[in-house]
Amino acid sequence: MPQARKQFGQHWLKSEAALAQIVEAAQLLPSDRVLEIGPGTGILTRRLLPLVEALVGVEIDRDLCEILRKHLSKAQNFLLLEGDFLTMDLAASLAEFPDFQEINKVVANIPYNITGPILEKLLGSITQPHPAPCQSIVLLLQKEVAERISAQPSSKSFGALSVRVQYLADCDWICDVPARAFQPPPKVDSAVVRLRPRPIPTPADDPHQLETLIKLGFATRRKMLRNNLQSVMEREPMAELLESLGLNPQARAEDLGLRDWVRLSNQIQPGTAHQIGL
Ligand code: SAH
Repeated sequence: MPQARKQFGQHWLKSEAALAQIVEAAQLLPSDRVLEIGPGTGILTRRLLPLVEALVGVEIDRDLCEILRKHLSKAQNFLLLEGDFLTMDLAASLAEFPDFQEINKVVANIPYNITGPILEKLLGSITQPHPAPCQSIVLLLQKEVAERISAQPSSKSFGALSVRVQYLADCDWICDVPARAFQPPPKVDSAVVRLRPRPIPTPADDPHQLETLIKLGFATRRKMLRNNLQSVMEREPMAELLESLGLNPQARAEDLGLRDWVRLSNQIQPGTAHQIGL
């Protein structure tokens, strides 16, 4: 087993149970074309390869790429791209490989230090949803982040990340993965989630405004929304607006689910939140 490099967030998965749960969660079909971010030593890669039509691995660590090339050279349906997933233009990199295009699923044990940017690259953002996201994304990530992504309103973990991700995808909690499932064990526990990107049924009329409201609302999450959002609307009219939406006028940011946030944003004149310079 190669020495794990901290700067690349390397923790080798060693638990058979966790590997099996990730593979099962991906619900792979023989026609699937899968992307794996950070194949590392290839432990997950080897389990995915027999199940799919094509697998593209993107690995930043040159030494690992050498190992992967050596050990997986016989796998016809494996393509390794060496580089940084965050800056890579995947479509351009795949242009010369006709058998490895139209990726429809992602399965990965990702480096935790770049979880946010990976999510944004795969899903886009509220203001710029990914124009052609893949069908499903199964990720092993830090448990705390997994909880935030799949949180329900009014729970401790429900925050801006919950709203941002749930705006872009359905999110399912799959399972816990303890730190001891890895070598070396990370300092935090982990979990597997599955995201299914989809256009939101009722989008925000002004996505920039929604983004601003979420940012302001969750900035001080213990405060009531009517106090948090004063720069957008005075307290009284805000309380009335919340009430007219069937919400408690004393609600806090965490009490509003995804649909409530969109409804709130759509009841405020588009552009209001931009005019206040946010
Ligand atoms: N999938 C392997 C390794 C997981 S550790 C396993 O389960 O054992 C995370 C992996 O992501 C490492 O191999 C690391 O080198 C790679 N990685 C880190 N940053 C990356 C980036 N920006 N682009 C691509 N791969 C990256």
